Amino acid sequence: MGQVQGKVALVTGAASGIGAACAETLAREGARVLLTDLDDARGETLVARIRASGGEAAYLHQDVTDEDRWAEVVAEAEARFGRLDVLISNAGIGILTSIVDMTLADWRRQMAINVDGVFLSVKHSIPAMRRAGGGSIVLISSVAGLRGSAGLAGYSATKGAVRLFAKSVALECARENIRCNSVHPGIIETPIWEKIPTGATGPGSNQGRNAPLDPRAIALASVPTGVLGQPQDVADGVLFLASDQSRYVNGSELVIDGAQTAGRIGSLAKA
Ligand code: NAP
Repeated sequence: MGQVQGKVALVTGAASGIGAACAETLAREGARVLLTDLDDARGETLVARIRASGGEAAYLHQDVTDEDRWAEVVAEAEARFGRLDVLISNAGIGILTSIVDMTLADWRRQMAINVDGVFLSVKHSIPAMRRAGGGSIVLISSVAGLRGSAGLAGYSATKGAVRLFAKSVALECARENIRCNSVHPGIIETPIWEKIPTGATGPGSNQGRNAPLDPRAIALASVPTGVLGQPQDVADGVLFLASDQSRYVNGSELVIDGAQTAGRIGSLAKA
């Protein structure tokens, strides 16, 4: 029997990277999975792959910042699969720029997707989980939500907000058998690195790109193990939080970062 056999899961940003690995892993472990994303072609392709390997899944187009769409997506999960037990709130973007070069429009766009989207996902999933008799909510934050990050101040602010929002959700739903935890991935090899706008080019523009960021080089320089994480590393942690094996894990932070935030290597020797 799979680790999440019989559960119904909703995964946002599921067409790519970490979300895709979460959707495939949950389906492989017996969940019926509703995948949502902006990228319909990739989402549909992934659903076809899950079905081909014996899993049950469906795809819906969804912009996580659109509140009306949230009501429809949750209603569709219940209509199609009968209930909602698991929410993986994963959709997110990153914008790399100095604070003074960041436009208010980009600050707000990042907040809208990374924070408003997570808020809406939880707001609309809780009533469905109540109807199901309980549930597990997993919010994808980042190591950037655990500490500051020069060049990623806006991203860090959004991920820090997600971290504390998860704890508040856990407390507010504690007597309703609905758990909520945050996950903090380190440097993970996904397409997000190619999409991160870099090199602000002047007022009103944050879209000018220099060379794309190289996550392998960043991992080599900043992760004590030197190893670049894979989406599956995160999906395995998410699976645990989604399953009943983590029934007493609530309001907590699962850090999956190859010891990146554990401290400084050799800091005593160098002191
Ligand atoms: P990814 O490969 O870019 O996947 C993110 C998915 O979310 C994409 O398919 C993207 O679509 C979608 N998305 C973006 N805006 C959306 C919106 N408004 N509504 C619905 N879907 C939207 O990135 P990833 O690396 O897997 O990241 C997943 C999560 O992990 C994010 O929250 C990210 O911050 C977090 N994270 C990633 C890392 C890492 O190293 N990769 C580390 C820590 C935390 P488009 O491609 O069309 O934009």
